[in-house]
Amino acid sequence: VKEIGKNDFQFYTPEMNEMVSKKMQLEIGLRKALERKEFEVYYQPQIDVNSGRVIGVEALIRWEHPKLGFISPVEFIPIAEETGLIIPIGEWVLKEACRQNKEWQNQGFPAMRMAVNISSRQFKQSNLIAIVSKALEESGLEPHYLELELTESIIQDSKYAIMTMHQLKQMGIYLSIDDFGTGYSSLSYLKLFPIDSLKIDQSFTRNMFEDDKDAALVHTIISMAHNLDLKVIAEGVETEAQLAFLSQRQCNEAQGYLFSRPLPAHAISELIKHPYT
Ligand code: C2E
Ligand code: CA
Ligand code: CA
Ligand code: CA
Repeated sequence: VKEIGKNDFQFYTPEMNEMVSKKMQLEIGLRKALERKEFEVYYQPQIDVNSGRVIGVEALIRWEHPKLGFISPVEFIPIAEETGLIIPIGEWVLKEACRQNKEWQNQGFPAMRMAVNISSRQFKQSNLIAIVSKALEESGLEPHYLELELTESIIQDSKYAIMTMHQLKQMGIYLSIDDFGTGYSSLSYLKLFPIDSLKIDQSFTRNMFEDDKDAALVHTIISMAHNLDLKVIAEGVETEAQLAFLSQRQCNEAQGYLFSRPLPAHAISELIKHPYT
């Protein structure tokens, strides 16, 4: 066995090398993924708790890497943000989602909202308003059928954020705060931001029955939202018991595997023909 001398530092273990190269592989792949048409948008229904009807869908990007197969957005979205690739990718999702929503309307389905995730880097882009306007114009989708899901991280630059949100609001777009309660930010922004709804993060919904404190938080977020004249949607709803809990506390909307996983557009068409009641 060869001994490693005192000064032979091993900076990279084989595992680390593998990690570095997977990340690099993803980055290289991401640069080509758009032109190679490797992305697809899936849609997950959002249900009105009272009527059981689908009132919206959230657009969630999917990527099939030619060698590595399906890569979770949890893995590649942060790389896209780091590299700035989120800008063209995000614009593509926005356009595709608006186009798809208008297509469903043209096919005669009841009109619903299309929620699109906007990363904070995308939100801070100076031409965001122009990009959103273009997506609406090109698709012919009316602005109130578009929802932008923003995260609390945009608050870092609150003056700019408030201005941009007011512009989007004036256009008639529906705005929500995603992953609400996980951003370690003060609540005071809620009175400054012209938002329509809060999305309760799935970490709270998931543990509602294991942890009384999560249940209390869910209840409190719903009450607070209503007191502020905001709608509330709970994400990560997987069981009837969770839905009953949310319904009793007047949560407006719910989204989760209980209703449907995110699905490709053609499968959503089938689903909205037969609403859950
Ligand atoms: P998110 O915006 O919080 O989206 C919700 C995630 O929870 C989705 O994961 C969805 O598939 C998953 N989910 C929905 N219902 C349930 C449930 O009942 N149980 C469980 N365990 N999970 C559920 P997904 O599609 O893997 O996306 C992960 C994250 O990636 C998203 O979290 C979002 O932050 C980001 N992301 C996805 N698509 C886009 C996009 O087009 N643009 C940007 N900027 N980010 C995106
Ligand atoms: Ca979201
Ligand atoms: Ca979320
Ligand atoms: Ca999340």
